[in-house]
Amino acid sequence: MELSSNFLDLTFYRGRVALYALLKALGIGRGDEVLLQAFTCVAVPESLVAAGVVPRYVDVEVGGYNLSPAALEAAITPATRAIVVQHTFGIPAQMPQIAAVAAKHGLFLIEDCCHTLDSRVAGTTVGSWGIGAFYSYEWGKPVVAGVGGSLTVNDARVKHRVEEIRRSMKKPGSARQLRLGVQYLAHLFIYRPSWYWPIRSLYHHLGAIGAAESNYNPLSAGEPAADFSLQMADVVQRRAEHKLRRLHEITAHSIAITARYAAEIRSGAVIHPERRTDAVPVFARYPLRAGDKAALLAAAKQCGVELAEWYATPVHPLSSAEAARVGYQAGSCPEAEKRCREVVSLPTHRKVTKRDVSRAIDFLNRQLP
Ligand SMILES: *Cc1c(COP(=O)(O)O)cnc(C)c1O
Repeated sequence: MELSSNFLDLTFYRGRVALYALLKALGIGRGDEVLLQAFTCVAVPESLVAAGVVPRYVDVEVGGYNLSPAALEAAITPATRAIVVQHTFGIPAQMPQIAAVAAKHGLFLIEDCCHTLDSRVAGTTVGSWGIGAFYSYEWGKPVVAGVGGSLTVNDARVKHRVEEIRRSMKKPGSARQLRLGVQYLAHLFIYRPSWYWPIRSLYHHLGAIGAAESNYNPLSAGEPAADFSLQMADVVQRRAEHKLRRLHEITAHSIAITARYAAEIRSGAVIHPERRTDAVPVFARYPLRAGDKAALLAAAKQCGVELAEWYATPVHPLSSAEAARVGYQAGSCPEAEKRCREVVSLPTHRKVTKRDVSRAIDFLNRQLP
């Protein structure tokens, strides 16, 4: 299968809208439960809630960033219909084990490929393990095209139903498309790793006053947000098509940078992700577990080194009171909460230069355990 040719068959306003459309097409809705990992962002439960589904959180692997196969089975109830599996940071989840659980219990398997289009596990590329997979093209993802998402479906009849659902959706209005275009160009020309911290605070301010497309919609219990009835903006679609043609270059760049992080970061202040013999990860970001996350982030800011903090909470960026509104009970997934207290991550995308990598490595190697 030539994967890169079908990533954009079914495009939506965002990745979360793609997931929403798939749930609808599968007839998953009110009264149903869907399993997902804690240590995720609110986008995922947001689409479950929009579809009327109850999110049920599963803890992550000990020391890892993905769904724990061991914790998965215990979370299944008679109302469970599907499992959303996230390949966090591009590290593929333990798919053979997870697929076996899904098959045993007759559950749909949906892959969250927002962090990777081409990581492999047990000889199979992510996105082809289950009924379908969703992708995102916004800032921080491997392929950046602006706000947008897509869906791949591995079953012809379900795909046909998704196409019908998509046809009933509209394109974003022209004012919104213009804003998305401006935002993308601003990212293209202004952003670079050494300006990460000042740009980050600017973006948060613009989002707060509504001048930038925020990643997080206000959660409402009633009607799904208007975003859930929108297709991908044309400007984003064109850019995504263009960028996906060079996916191999994006991947090669990530692999080269990650190899340096893995080999040259020797600081006792951080722990590298575990290497698995069955997995070929293509990292969207390179995660490290820090002994003192707050101090490390503060030092990185001081030194102008890009170091991200997500996910800072089990349903990022929600506080525990807000997370309870999307069904996450504080304390229920202790490993995920531990990861939130530890994780920092380094960039791997095309704008990261050799010099940026060296600065990040030197910075980390200066930190004391
Ligand atoms: C970005 C992201 C999403 C959602 O993407 P949007 O396009 O913002 O809706 C879903 N899951 C994960 C893990 C993500 O990183």
